[in-house]
Amino acid sequence: MTQVFNFSAGPAVLPKEVLQQAASEMLDWHGSGMSVMEMSHRGPEFISIYQQAEADLRELLNVPANYKILFMQGGGLGQNSLVPLNLAGRKAQPATIDFVQTGSWSSKSIKEAARYAKVNVAASGEAGGFTTVPPQESWRLSDDAAYLHVCTNETIDGVEFNFVPTVQGAHGRDVPLVADMSSHILSRVIDVSKYGVIFAGAQKNIGPAGLTLLIVREDLLDCALPICPGVFNWRAVADADSMLNTPPTYAIYIAGLVFAHLKRLGGVAAMEQRNIEKARLLYAALDADDFYRNRVAPECRSRMNIPFYLRDESLNDQFLAGAKARGLLQLKGHKSVGGMRASIYNAMPIEGVQALVDYLNEFAGR
Ligand SMILES: *Cc1c(COP(=O)(O)O)cnc(C)c1O
Repeated sequence: MTQVFNFSAGPAVLPKEVLQQAASEMLDWHGSGMSVMEMSHRGPEFISIYQQAEADLRELLNVPANYKILFMQGGGLGQNSLVPLNLAGRKAQPATIDFVQTGSWSSKSIKEAARYAKVNVAASGEAGGFTTVPPQESWRLSDDAAYLHVCTNETIDGVEFNFVPTVQGAHGRDVPLVADMSSHILSRVIDVSKYGVIFAGAQKNIGPAGLTLLIVREDLLDCALPICPGVFNWRAVADADSMLNTPPTYAIYIAGLVFAHLKRLGGVAAMEQRNIEKARLLYAALDADDFYRNRVAPECRSRMNIPFYLRDESLNDQFLAGAKARGLLQLKGHKSVGGMRASIYNAMPIEGVQALVDYLNEFAGR
């Protein structure tokens, strides 16, 4: 088999061990004679797969008992509508939603929420080209927001929160914190109890596309607007254990294999240590001289998604061709920002980062 390192932002690299296990179980899962793809989602085989995946994720993220884990569809982008549809009912209509704008994904969330509520951009990094998380002291939160939305890792801009916002409304009211963690969930230790809602598309750091994970505090399950589609109503999905309709069964199965794999590696704390080391190695190579540039303020640099530019952008195609020839794939930056981007999720081994670093040094003539 061709040995490559895949730096795609998503769908992204999965652990080789997981793919091998899935391959070996593809035609006959645990002697059932069926592929997981062929199983009823209500049968005992799939229910056991689902329950194990849920329990393993709960353990990995230390999810408190008063939080539900939902396995949904519609992607991270879908939650941009589903979060306001499920939470704006906390307040008299039209409700106000606070946002911190730190890059492309939070910008999309703001645009979508404006269809259902008033939006207040409490702080924005746009003027600085999305290179920082505006410090919390500068945020202008509303008095009575239905919730505060942040994207804790901006996949395109490479900006990551290194703190958890404190969310007291101006008059000390509880304002639920909603976090889009699509591209860094399970990469670092988090305290779930500090959030009202966490959501993540699976295809970055969890498993295949088609599955969207939602972790929601129970008291936030009953705040939906009447126009919220029934199949996306969090209370209804929670009460049906994510089986209100057919869930993305195969994607849940693969995600479950990933969760079990992460547990064997020592859990999220162990992954965080590896991720710190991988990111350190890569940023050091980019910072060594001015051949490459990463514009993000050092304290806000993402450990998962590392955009960078060549000083001489006329060399971009040559850089990408040379990378591909070495099996370093999908390094082209997002079309909206250009340049390059290396996504180094949990499943990217340190050998892959080292291979990229070696190539960066070689291409720069160091
Ligand atoms: C990829 C991504 C999304 C969108 O996910 P889809 O599953 O394509 O809808 C949303 N937010 C963030 C931070 C992402 O990285």
